Amino acid sequence: MVADKAADSTKDESNKLDVLSSTRTVVKNALERLGYPDEVFELLKEPIRMMTVRIPVRMDDGSIKIFTGYRAQHNDAVGPTKGGVRFHPDVTEKEVKALSIWMSLKAGIVDLPYGGGKGGIICDPREMSFRELEGLSRGYVRAISQIVGPNKDIPAPDVFTNSQIMAWMMDEYSRIDEFNSPGFITGKPIVLGGSHGRESATAKGVTIVINEAAKKKGIDVKGARVVVQGFGNAGSFLSKFLHDAGAKVVGISDAYGALHDPDGLDIDYLLDRRDSFGTVTKLFNNTISNKELLELDCDILVPAAVENQITEDNAHNIKASIVVEAANGPTTLEATKILTERGILLVPDVLSSAGGVTVSYFEWVQNNQGYYWPEEEIAEKLETIMVKSFNAIYNTAQTRRVDMRLAAYMVGVRKMAEAARFRGWV
Ligand code: GLU
Repeated sequence: MVADKAADSTKDESNKLDVLSSTRTVVKNALERLGYPDEVFELLKEPIRMMTVRIPVRMDDGSIKIFTGYRAQHNDAVGPTKGGVRFHPDVTEKEVKALSIWMSLKAGIVDLPYGGGKGGIICDPREMSFRELEGLSRGYVRAISQIVGPNKDIPAPDVFTNSQIMAWMMDEYSRIDEFNSPGFITGKPIVLGGSHGRESATAKGVTIVINEAAKKKGIDVKGARVVVQGFGNAGSFLSKFLHDAGAKVVGISDAYGALHDPDGLDIDYLLDRRDSFGTVTKLFNNTISNKELLELDCDILVPAAVENQITEDNAHNIKASIVVEAANGPTTLEATKILTERGILLVPDVLSSAGGVTVSYFEWVQNNQGYYWPEEEIAEKLETIMVKSFNAIYNTAQTRRVDMRLAAYMVGVRKMAEAARFRGWV
């Protein structure tokens, strides 16, 4: 009897932290509130296509290692699917599926002509050489080449992938396609058709929504105390933008620990010392734990690392008045409820991290037309889209009396559901 209970509670626990089932719960709720029949949920609860591939790579020691990769295409009613590819040891099929649904929602929120897609390879790029990474990147593209393409599914960077990896992937696809195909992938180096502003786009988008959220809460970003969890692409650029805007970044972290200074950390120094995977805290002795970091006294908390960081266990201890999710899935549904009840303004991931895919869209448009835009034009267009999207979701939350996550899902799912209906799918 006792053993059964223990097994049940483990199952409950893993369900709560299961990003796919929690995403489905909110999608279902959003569709119900919008008045769509059940079959729309049945269509959208799973990707329309999910490919699992095995990729052989010759390693530097001469051995062959077989890697497992995935590509999920959530829904292509609106247009081709779009989303990043992550290289990480913790990648799972379920996570890739959930991430593809989030990409559909992001595209809906910022109103791009895309559905969502996502890819992942189970590997640890921190322990691989440049040559091995090139072999893996090219092997992945060969394995998925039939289901991707500039008008089918357009990959991009994600956790632990960068513009060099995009360049190898674009080159491999161009060879298979026998055309130069820059529009096959975004997040490329500028010389290969990449867009100005793409590398820092996620962080720029987060900065824009922080400014909007701060206005709603009557907080001046200049002088505000900010904690940023994660020092990867999003976290590091974001710390820099906020620091330059006069905010006091009082805490940052990486996968190995966290740093705290109530007077504000020297962000330029930390950026200078960080490695390409965002590791910097190893250089310091006086680190604090991740748990302590999240509970620090501050005005704005930005989880920019991994999933399931704010849960029902610590949501009551969060001191920030604004939580902006720059990572995908950092707050559980139970924690979302607790934060909302406590009057904390939560800006959900599908809105705040949509700046990356927005500038990816600009990159794809530039590739398709062969005409390239200056950096200022990108920045201006991104600002307009993010401000409009934030306000649409904030107003939906107020008028429909729902939390910001549900409001974002309602805004994000509507276009896809409509497109599927017009096509006669449901
Ligand atoms: N991987 C990023 C995301 O999760 C960007 C996707 C893209 O640029 O297509 O939003």
